[in-house]
Amino acid sequence: MVENFNDESLVREFEAVFGTAPDGLWQAPGRVNLIGEHTDYNEGFVLPFAIDKVARVAVRRRDDNVIRLLSTYGDQGVTQAPLDGLEPGEAHGWTKYPLGVVWALQQRGINVPGFDLLLDSTVPLGAGLSSSHAIECATITALNDLTGAGLTAEEMVLTTQRAENDFVGAPTGIMDQSASLRGAEGHAVFLDCRDQHVELVPFEASPAGLVMLVIDTKVAHSHADGGYASRRAACEEGARVMGVPALRDLDVSALDEAQSKLDDVTFRRVRHVVTENDRVLRTVEKLRAEGPTAIGALLDASHVSMRDDFEISCPELDLAVDTARSNGAIGSRMTGGGFGGAAIALTPAGEEEKVRTAVVQAFAEAGFTLPDIFTVTPAAGAQRNR
Ligand code: ADP
Ligand code: MG
Repeated sequence: MVENFNDESLVREFEAVFGTAPDGLWQAPGRVNLIGEHTDYNEGFVLPFAIDKVARVAVRRRDDNVIRLLSTYGDQGVTQAPLDGLEPGEAHGWTKYPLGVVWALQQRGINVPGFDLLLDSTVPLGAGLSSSHAIECATITALNDLTGAGLTAEEMVLTTQRAENDFVGAPTGIMDQSASLRGAEGHAVFLDCRDQHVELVPFEASPAGLVMLVIDTKVAHSHADGGYASRRAACEEGARVMGVPALRDLDVSALDEAQSKLDDVTFRRVRHVVTENDRVLRTVEKLRAEGPTAIGALLDASHVSMRDDFEISCPELDLAVDTARSNGAIGSRMTGGGFGGAAIALTPAGEEEKVRTAVVQAFAEAGFTLPDIFTVTPAAGAQRNR
């Protein structure tokens, strides 16, 4: 594990690598989705929060048409790319994220200058905490400032989505960028994916005597394989047969009719999305009325729905969730797109150690790679640090 930099040492590192001081330093957080999984592309509701793990970029404008990129993670060295003629599919490794942002800004007609960028991130890679979006959101926040483009948060969300969909080639929605760009400390981001309407909902575990544990199973998830695409296709088919623009337009009272019209698999995919949307709405109500101690059962129900109806869990995620629950967590679910990645467990502070120990032991006994377990708190969205 590499030692991460603070703002001061990141600036010094930038000077050491690129020879001059950066114009500024920007950061954007990763995110955890509290509830609302696979509802985004069905134009439904999600409830993620920005976390206290961030991608930071030190950036300096150049006066030529060159982009130079370096990450403190790994040892790939400096990547140099020309500003003109960026094409989807041509960038490799992590540089496709910042270059995708440049490309998407150019598609909007924004004149991006050459620049040097040094990335340092504390968001774990590939754990389903959106380390990739954190890079994109930090980059766009920096370039929005440096170009004076004046994009709103909503416009930056759509621009990074364009980068992700059309340059990186991942068919993702707007949840991750919305959490990273629009999150706030002590709040979850209640997002309507149909119209990008956001309401910040108070969500703080610690005053309620709770901690939010993330259990990274280390099972690599991938958007590129068929699981994600086939779930999307089933949702579209369900909406088509039910005669609605998107599954968002069905509520739970329509499920009997859906069952009579759809084959078993498609019906269960539809039932997950419809009930998950409902769980998001009820979680928001409970957070507002009673606080986080009241949402455990909704987290549990979300996991069961993903495991049995949407079929996107895996043995490691199920073991993490079941073990956390039977050792004191008040609610637990896999989070993120599925097929690996992380689970969350809302846990009384006094039970944290017990849950951690039990999960590690259960993984050891099952012969699984040992998980990483850490706490997250709802943190601020993207910002300029200096
Ligand atoms: P997730 O976004 O859930 O973490 P992804 O597979 O979408 O998983 O993104 C992980 C990718 O993001 C990595 O393969 C790497 O290319 C890039 N990445 C994330 N953090 C860093 C970093 N600090 N330095 C370089 N690349 C990074
Ligand atoms: Mg990602």
